[in-house]
Amino acid sequence: MHFGTMDRREYKRNPGCISRIFFKSTYLYPMRDFSQGTITDCVVWAGPDVAPVRCGAFAWEAGKITGMVLGEAATEAGGCRYGVIPGLVNAHTHVGDCFLPEVAVPLTLEEAFFRPHGYKYRALESISAADHVRQMSGFLGEMAASGTVAHVDFREQGLEGARRLREASDLSGVRSLILGQLKVSPQSEAELSDAERPLPAGAAEELKEMLSVADGFSESTMNDLTDAAWREVRSITRDLDRARAIHCLENGGYRALSLSRTGKGDLERALELLDPDLVVHLTVAMDAEIDLLAASGKTAVLNPRANAALGLPLPPVAKLMKAGVNLLLGTDNGILNGPDLFRELDFIYRLARSQWGDGRHPLPGEILKMATANFGRTRWGAEIPGTLSEGGPATFVVVDLTRPHFQNSRDLTGTLITRTAPGDLLQTVFRGKTVYHA
Ligand SMILES: [Zn+2]
Repeated sequence: MHFGTMDRREYKRNPGCISRIFFKSTYLYPMRDFSQGTITDCVVWAGPDVAPVRCGAFAWEAGKITGMVLGEAATEAGGCRYGVIPGLVNAHTHVGDCFLPEVAVPLTLEEAFFRPHGYKYRALESISAADHVRQMSGFLGEMAASGTVAHVDFREQGLEGARRLREASDLSGVRSLILGQLKVSPQSEAELSDAERPLPAGAAEELKEMLSVADGFSESTMNDLTDAAWREVRSITRDLDRARAIHCLENGGYRALSLSRTGKGDLERALELLDPDLVVHLTVAMDAEIDLLAASGKTAVLNPRANAALGLPLPPVAKLMKAGVNLLLGTDNGILNGPDLFRELDFIYRLARSQWGDGRHPLPGEILKMATANFGRTRWGAEIPGTLSEGGPATFVVVDLTRPHFQNSRDLTGTLITRTAPGDLLQTVFRGKTVYHA
């Protein structure tokens, strides 16, 4: 009997079929701490294409993949019990506000999220450090349980905010790449109209101190600092070898305010002044801006579910893909979304096909890369390549392929990105360390 023809009821009624078909698959942990192991007769989403391939044995030890015996491309599960995919990367989060789910439901973007009086900033002031770390580490635990091994976070609250997230990251085992924001806006509304106004001395010192803990600097928008201040930020972060990222074109107001003050849009200024590692959102990017971004070679992070929840347009993902922009995905604020990146993959897959206007494009593998291989093209690619290869870091997720949707699937990657539920995941490993196990 071909297992793919079974429906869910039959699967439950007749589990004997499973052992008969799967009798060869094994999942071995020689060490109690799971620091090494071997999975046999599995499907591995291998190499730079992150495409499913039959694998006789997938082995890891001491933080590295020590063996991958690859066979033919796998279009179907073919009786395999386990799937192995690269650990996912959530490229844009604000986990600091994870303790306020859905608080923004009745609020505008400004009322909920903007400094200094937005609800979120007031709530961040009132939560104790111990509670905050506990809440964030719990949220990172949810990430691990949904297959995410690392995230890039815009962390508010200056040095203290970076310290809290570092502690939560250490507790959970999920890698936090922390891009800190200064504790208070360093330039007033009046000062911002003078493009050559530098950062106040105290702000530059605060930035350097924060970067002793944080991996980089983030700011809400290009409109929050003057051109001269951005040049200083770029120079300080470059000297300290730290990352830079910025929200751009989340709504038309970002571009309009930047144009009115400087004669240039916010994306254009970001590329010229900040030289960012990541440009986040691009919700309302126009064709000329997409061309500008593509020519710059910069990586962009899309957060379509957060945009939708805020009543904003959806990002032009099809145009960005066609232009060749390296794209990543984020779940954005903890207020708006839980950290399950599979939901974002599902949403953007449908959005991309809708915008493409063709039910055959893009292929699911191109979407999966946004949470895996495309991250390898960022400054963090050596640590987190987002791909599985022999000798590479043992950073992966084990998927239960005995679920009916996988056993019946005619396109494994399509099923993976649209139907995977957290309950389908058995283990999440970051550089050899198990950060989640079912
Ligand atoms: Zn954001």
